[in-house]
Amino acid sequence: MEIGVLSVKKICILLLCLVLLLSVFTPANGESLTVKVEPHRALLSFDLADREAVYVTYKTASDNGEFVIYGQDGHFEAVCELPGTDKAVKLNVVVYSLGGKVLLKQDTVTVVPKGEGPVSGLSYQGRPAGSAREAVITAELDGIHYRFTTPGRDTVVIKCKSPQESHTVTIYAGEDYWYEGVIAMPYTYADDKITVMVTTPTTSTLYSGEFQMPTNFPPVAEQAAEGRLKGVKVCIDPGHQAKTQVETVQLAPNMNKTATTTVGMAKGVVTSRRESIVVLEIAMKLRNVLLAEGAEVLMTRETQDQFVGMLERAEIPNEWGADFVLRLHCNNRSNASIQGIHIFCPYASEYAAQVADVDTYREMGFTLLRAMEAVTGASGGKCTLNDTYVGNNWSKMPSFLVEMGYMSNKEEDLLMANEPYQKKLAEGMAEGIIQLSQMRGLIE
Ligand SMILES: [Zn+2]
Repeated sequence: MEIGVLSVKKICILLLCLVLLLSVFTPANGESLTVKVEPHRALLSFDLADREAVYVTYKTASDNGEFVIYGQDGHFEAVCELPGTDKAVKLNVVVYSLGGKVLLKQDTVTVVPKGEGPVSGLSYQGRPAGSAREAVITAELDGIHYRFTTPGRDTVVIKCKSPQESHTVTIYAGEDYWYEGVIAMPYTYADDKITVMVTTPTTSTLYSGEFQMPTNFPPVAEQAAEGRLKGVKVCIDPGHQAKTQVETVQLAPNMNKTATTTVGMAKGVVTSRRESIVVLEIAMKLRNVLLAEGAEVLMTRETQDQFVGMLERAEIPNEWGADFVLRLHCNNRSNASIQGIHIFCPYASEYAAQVADVDTYREMGFTLLRAMEAVTGASGGKCTLNDTYVGNNWSKMPSFLVEMGYMSNKEEDLLMANEPYQKKLAEGMAEGIIQLSQMRGLIE
């Protein structure tokens, strides 16, 4: 009997090894790349069930580029603009993991329909008086707009590069050697830097410049007359601002210690986005979700340039008489694998003690955390009570510093830059505020 048991065990182990080997060498079902080539662009579509985001590179003889793309439930779609590509096209597309591993690749050969030459990009007719060579290049929400002339030169190469994508395209001159058009930058976020270079096909520089993608905040929603948060006042404090200004202030009303601004803020490991813009974008969405629930909302800042001091971040909600303060931040650690939401509440502040005892404060923090995790799907969250944060210590109402995720973690950096996930974070916080308002007896 024992021999029989051992044999069964051995067979099981062998089978397990076989399954593991097959899973290593066989791609999972559905992981194929579909490339549809149209005149001057290619449409990509693929599924990678276990990926949030991937890097894509594309290349033809005339045009090439790369970008980071975020999927929806494992499905990815993207457009590669190919303005300089015509006739028989050999398009090479490679999809990489964020760690640089090749996941999918494909070489497509196709023929562009006859009569479709390369895009001249020219809609400008005639020459403006005077500044014939002057380049007019601007960054707009739909991409880089260019208009310039290079007398005698009928082909140039334009390269546009942001932290999330780069495109190098060949452009042909229109009438009188004028060039005009738009290079789409669909994967570049608001406030990001973009460099633009125009060169000859042999890479002599004709123009170079640096631009900033404009911000694109949603309009402020109207406060609903009725809603689950009718009568509740919420102050939103988006952490940081574009330029750090160092100050030293008293740590807490009852503590004979000071706190000095920590220089620097979190920066996205993949996106290169700054914490100050990410928290502002999420704050704008949170404001609209709260207003739609009938809450009154006040923000401590609404622009990147607005400076708000450490004490001011408590004085503003104190003077306004807020019921709650949500202080939005993004986290950062040297260990890139750490993920999750981390909420901080005040611990030994005299003002905090008047709001709630330590156990109640902790319970409130965890209530907010669980509500956020339920909506976002984030896990591994924490809630900590400490004396570290001036804004928390000086608040005369429940105050929560919410680290919404880690910008040092590739997945969370991309998630926090992604609009649907930003909306989930906002909805999770609003849900938390509803539960806290019930706990505090502010609503039924
Ligand atoms: Zn921060």
